[in-house]
Amino acid sequence: MQEGVKAFQNRIGDMGERGPEMGLRRALFGGVPDAGPGVIRVAGSPEVTVRFKRSSRARRLSLRISRLDGQVTLTLPTHVPRREAEAFVHEKADWIRGHLADLPGELRPMPGDLIPFEGQMCEVVAVARRGVAQVGGRIEVPSSGVEATPARLGAFLKVAARERLVAASERHAAAIGREIGKVTLRDTRSRWGSCTHEGNLMYSWRLVMAPPDVLDYVAAHEVSHMVHMDHSDAFWRQCADLFPDHKAQRRWLRQKGGALHRYRFRD
Ligand SMILES: [Zn+2]
Repeated sequence: MQEGVKAFQNRIGDMGERGPEMGLRRALFGGVPDAGPGVIRVAGSPEVTVRFKRSSRARRLSLRISRLDGQVTLTLPTHVPRREAEAFVHEKADWIRGHLADLPGELRPMPGDLIPFEGQMCEVVAVARRGVAQVGGRIEVPSSGVEATPARLGAFLKVAARERLVAASERHAAAIGREIGKVTLRDTRSRWGSCTHEGNLMYSWRLVMAPPDVLDYVAAHEVSHMVHMDHSDAFWRQCADLFPDHKAQRRWLRQKGGALHRYRFRD
C-alpha cells in the first residue's frame, strides 16, 4: 500500500569517530526499562508514540509520518544508542504533533478519493454505469446518485471480501482434509478473524483492502484453528504448513492494518 510521507532528517555528523565509546554507553543504558521494544513515547498532549527501527544503511536519524495512519517511524543507524534516539524524538515532539494534527481523519470515500483495494490505492471514479467495479487501477462507481458512493463502495468491498475469503478458506481447509462451516463477515477492530470448534469462520471484510497475501495468511491462520484452538507451537506449525513464511504478512497487519479502519462507508 502506498503511503504519503512527510520526512524530517537530521545529520548526526561525526558518529563514526565515536564508535569505541558506544559499547560503554550501551552497557550503561542497556538495563534501563523502556516503553516496550522498538517504541519511544513522549508524554504530553497528545502523547507521541514513535516506533523505531535500526538500519545498517541509515547514515542519520530520520523521522517519517505515514499520512495514512499517522504512524511515526524513526530510522536510526545501528550504532546510535537508544538514549540518543529518545533525545532526538523529545526534541522533535512538537514538530511531530504539528504534522499529526494536520493529518486527515476518517474518510467517507467519494469520487476523486483513493481507497485501498487488494493492497493498491485505487482512485474512485464516477462513470455512467450500474454497480461498482474495479477497472484497472480505478474503482468505478455510478455517477447517478453519487451521494450513495460510500455505501456502494462498502457493499462492493464486502462482496469481494466474501468471494476471496471463502475461496482462501476452502483452499486451506482442503489442504488439511477439512471442510469449513459458515463464513461470517464483520467489521471488527479487535481481530481480523476467528474460528469456532464447528469450523465456522469470521473475518473482517476490511481484509480485502489489504494485499492479497495478507488476506490469504489470515485465512490460513483461522483454518489452522480448526485443528488447534490455541496459539500453541503445534498451532503455529500447522499454520506454517499452510502458509510457510508469514512474518511479512503479520508485520503488515500490525503496522498498517489499523489504517484500513480509517475508511467509513456508512453514515
Ligand atoms: Zn489465532
